[in-house]
Amino acid sequence: MTDLLSKFDPYIAEHKGLLETGVHDPFGVVMERVMSPTRAIINGRETILVGTYNYMGMTFDPDVIAAGKAALDNFGAGSTGSRVLNGTFAPHIAVEQALKDFYGTRSAIVFSTGYQANLGMVSTLAGKGDYIILDADSHASIYDGCKLGNAEVVRFRHNNVEDLDKRLGRLPAEAGKLVILEGVYSMLGDIAPLRELVAVAKKHNAMTLVDEAHAMGFFGKHGRGVYEELGLEDQIDFVVGTFSKSVGTVGGFAVSNHPKFEILRLVCNPYRFTASLPPAVAATAEASIRKLMGAEAKRDNLWAVSRKLHAGLKAAGFRMATDTPESAIIAVLLPDQESTVAMWHQLLEHGIYCNMSRPPATPAGIFLLRCSLSAAHTLDDVDTIISRFIAARDSLPGAKAA
Ligand code: PMP
Repeated sequence: MTDLLSKFDPYIAEHKGLLETGVHDPFGVVMERVMSPTRAIINGRETILVGTYNYMGMTFDPDVIAAGKAALDNFGAGSTGSRVLNGTFAPHIAVEQALKDFYGTRSAIVFSTGYQANLGMVSTLAGKGDYIILDADSHASIYDGCKLGNAEVVRFRHNNVEDLDKRLGRLPAEAGKLVILEGVYSMLGDIAPLRELVAVAKKHNAMTLVDEAHAMGFFGKHGRGVYEELGLEDQIDFVVGTFSKSVGTVGGFAVSNHPKFEILRLVCNPYRFTASLPPAVAATAEASIRKLMGAEAKRDNLWAVSRKLHAGLKAAGFRMATDTPESAIIAVLLPDQESTVAMWHQLLEHGIYCNMSRPPATPAGIFLLRCSLSAAHTLDDVDTIISRFIAARDSLPGAKAA
């Protein structure tokens, strides 16, 4: 018998080697207790959370929690079924209405995760004979959606308008085309030049889908995303998002004004062949989305803490992934895996949790420590985070963190 797991031996050896150096497992962190959107107990120590995508700090909002508890009492623990059978409960309809109100769109479809929303949208919209043209740095869920579907897949260089134009120009004029973009790219925290990219897509008669997972709540007048910030609301055909970041729970969705959009419920496998969200989750999402409609103070604070962290780390000599803060993801570049892991470990020892990222999750073989800020962070928190970054680096004389 061939052991099917033996193909993972190099990963097993690498992970074992990593742990043998005495560091905490960067992929095995346990939140032993969670006190707030910004504080948890990890390894018995109170830790500032700076890597949770909890952008608007909604996880402990009292109205959100109350809505979830009420739905748990009224609808039970789970739906035990697909949306197209027994799994549509009143809270699912209510959260879709909240999304329509938030985005000002004709339709909204909720999936069980953002990953599934991309799997479903990408694999179902573009079929045999169609083309998907995606940014090379697209999220894994977009790539996996391509694998699930039957369209031809063409990649263009990250955020490169000319490359998109060139590649679209080589495709048959009459073929169906879907250009897939993201508002904020989660590894470097950089934003897309959506105006230029979408203009090129239109020039070639392609439809557009934008994943705004990392922008919801704080980009654009209504918090709809980078596309709203850039005034492109009538230019984008489909917007995908998630409840696992700014909304503070779990779930995914797509919104659109396309008059035929609702048919996706009957033809999209990652929507119809899986159980719907627990109704309590749908109810927490609805409460959270409705509160995000009037969250100006949170947005302002999120931008203030993001800018301050970027400026402080840069001034301290860290190499930043973007010259200026473009989003609430503030990423620090490190030279190699060894120094990245060592620095990440020291940060945890100093009571800071951020994300360690390395290839293949990162583009072009780069190593990153990624911070994501929350509206629940204070400016004092940011001072503490910066001083602990410096202390962590100082405790590693050999590490080339700067
Ligand atoms: N799209 C992007 C751009 C993401 O970064 C993520 C998750 N990190 C997802 C989709 C998937 O979202 P979810 O966590 O809801 O599955």
